[in-house]
Amino acid sequence: MTHNRNAPLTIVVIGGGAAGFFSAIAAARANGDHKVILLEKSRQPLTKVRISGGGRCNVTHSCFDPAVLVKNYPRGGKALLGPFHRFQPTDTIEWFKSEGVVLKTEEDGRMFPVTDDSSTIVNCLISTAKKSGVDLRLSCGVEGITKNEAGFILNLDDGEKLHCDRLILAAGSSPRAWEWLKILGHTIVPPVPSLFTFNTPTSPLLSLAGISVPQVRAKIQGTALEQLGPLLITHWGFSGPAILKLSAWGARILQEKQYRATLLIDWMPEKKHESLKADLQQIKSSSPARLVANESPGELPRNLWKALVEKAGIPTETRWSGLASQSLQRLIEELKIGHFEIQGKSQYKEEFVTCGGIELSEVNFKKMESKICPHLYFAGEILDIDGVTGGFNFQNAWTTAWIAGQSLLETG
Ligand SMILES: Cc1cc2nc3c(=O)[nH]c(=O)nc-3n(C[C@H](O)[C@H](O)[C@H](O)COP(=O)(O)OP(=O)(O)OC[C@H]3O[C@@H](n4cnc5c(N)ncnc54)[C@H](O)[C@@H]3O)c2cc1C
Repeated sequence: MTHNRNAPLTIVVIGGGAAGFFSAIAAARANGDHKVILLEKSRQPLTKVRISGGGRCNVTHSCFDPAVLVKNYPRGGKALLGPFHRFQPTDTIEWFKSEGVVLKTEEDGRMFPVTDDSSTIVNCLISTAKKSGVDLRLSCGVEGITKNEAGFILNLDDGEKLHCDRLILAAGSSPRAWEWLKILGHTIVPPVPSLFTFNTPTSPLLSLAGISVPQVRAKIQGTALEQLGPLLITHWGFSGPAILKLSAWGARILQEKQYRATLLIDWMPEKKHESLKADLQQIKSSSPARLVANESPGELPRNLWKALVEKAGIPTETRWSGLASQSLQRLIEELKIGHFEIQGKSQYKEEFVTCGGIELSEVNFKKMESKICPHLYFAGEILDIDGVTGGFNFQNAWTTAWIAGQSLLETG
């Protein structure tokens, strides 16, 4: 059933972040008769958009097949499949383009505004909200919500009580909003950090900070967690896409292990064990007089190769001719399953997210409406959805927000 257009609704969106702005704009545009109020507790809206992507805002990712796109969400991928058929990165690109913001794609698929400046996105969202008739109220925090027959009553921090017919919750990872939802009967999956780097204080590679390897396979020993991708050696351990993906997929397991685990690195994932052995034996017979530390079979950075040879217990003055078969075996093991002890985590500078939030089975993803509390909608990070780094978290915000805003027209 479609809402009677003669009876305007009051729609309130809580949270002036990416999801809040996008849903408020969608709701206002879907029917100009509605009154749309966007409440943000801070003086400045869109704080995370502003600092995102190192100040450039990685708006989305150039991945246009919903079935492939969902693979970038350790939590929520399955639920997002339907929504991505309705609003996906192509739509995000078009949406911003129609508001005068052109996005560009970088080599790794990440998409940024051509200005390389997140304020382009911030200004676009603010001006589009204003032009669409959204009533933006800053420094206006919500202290609590109650449901009644007519809709919702919001207690604002200045003492005002605000009534609304429809409510979109886009408050991000807000413990307070999750408490309201628990009272309304929702289940909240406990929040834990996602997207972090690993501290490996006993690693002999720390002095090589800054060196990156284009492709490694990183695993967490004793689990099925494994990722392929670039790796960066840092002063405190390891970072780079392979590690960040591993941290996102392993967010919960690693938290249970209190961020203590053994990281296994395959430095040459393109070479099978046997072919690596053959390559090493080939060097041994063709360059017997050369130092093992100076002659590698692959394209690992020279200093890294040296450090791995040492980590395998092979003295730096060893020549290939003098490499005993036991040492050769240890070297192969170091290259294929190098062990590093993870003892803690560090925050990734460009993006960090929280996994956990509203239990997804309690949400109707066709409308982003609560299955427990009618006329209550959700968008963005408040849900138990999170993506790996690369623009996927904002895409979740745009998609769920757009659907929530559109769906307010429907009452059935
Ligand atoms: C440093 C950093 C960089 C990032 N970079 C990227 C990136 O480049 N690409 C990407 O895809 N993702 C990135 N992310 C993740 C991305 O920013 C989030 O996934 C996204 O901002 C979530 O949007 P949201 O609107 O759901 O929540 P938020 O952005 O957290 O917005 C929620 C808003 O609700 C307000 N609020 C909360 N409670 C109340 C209340 N009671 N009353 C009123 N207002 C309230 C908050 O003040 C906030 O403004 C980054 C995150 C961080 C921290």
